[in-house]
Amino acid sequence: MKLRAFHKLSYGLYIVASEHDGKKAGYIANTVFQVTSKPPLLAISCHKDNLSTAVIRQAGKFSVSVLKKEVNTKIIGEFGFMSGDEIDKFDQKKITTAATGVPIVLDEAVAWFDCAVREQIDLGSHWLIIGEVLDSDLLSEEDALTYAWYREKYKMFSPKNSPTYLEKEKLDEEKQEDAPVEEEKAAAETAEGPEPHVCLICGYVYDPEKGDPSMGIEPGTPFEDLPEDYKCPICNASKDYFKKI
Ligand code: FE
Repeated sequence: MKLRAFHKLSYGLYIVASEHDGKKAGYIANTVFQVTSKPPLLAISCHKDNLSTAVIRQAGKFSVSVLKKEVNTKIIGEFGFMSGDEIDKFDQKKITTAATGVPIVLDEAVAWFDCAVREQIDLGSHWLIIGEVLDSDLLSEEDALTYAWYREKYKMFSPKNSPTYLEKEKLDEEKQEDAPVEEEKAAAETAEGPEPHVCLICGYVYDPEKGDPSMGIEPGTPFEDLPEDYKCPICNASKDYFKKI
């Protein structure tokens, strides 16, 4: 099996949200797809460990916000890499509601769908949840964000609970086997000077020239000199998750 074949499948990036008993929940999804047109049905694949999955199943409804191409990555950090137990993801967001009454996030979105759950299929690690679109709106003619574009721009990977997660080590091994020369050349090119580093989890870039004032890091601090317990200011990932760009 060739792991990189999976990277040729196309996806978007979305915020899926719901609310049950006053508890709002939302996460970043790439697996949202239309499965029929009459009635209009959307399917989402939700990891069983995620808080949002339980809320969607209890509520029996969910919303999907389609993110724009030039997205502010902060919203991906908040909805994709933080737990609703740690922060209120919906604080200071522009929210609307429609037929089902669940929150619909408008920030960074070009369109939204409001859905009532019709089917749930147990896939082991995930629930495949199918919802009927009861309402939708177009917010902007801007391009929607594609997962391939986001992954390429930030050199990022699907997090562990994503339906499209691939083990990074195995992916790297496969690349090394297929094209060892290019990999070595690329490594040599990035091997000198204080360089920006990107968080592979959320896409945040640490720029040594600017430092990271939010974490008390002075401008001019090379990545290598950051304290060992330095954490990504967006997703809280440790230094191990950063890679030179
Ligand atoms: Fe991060």
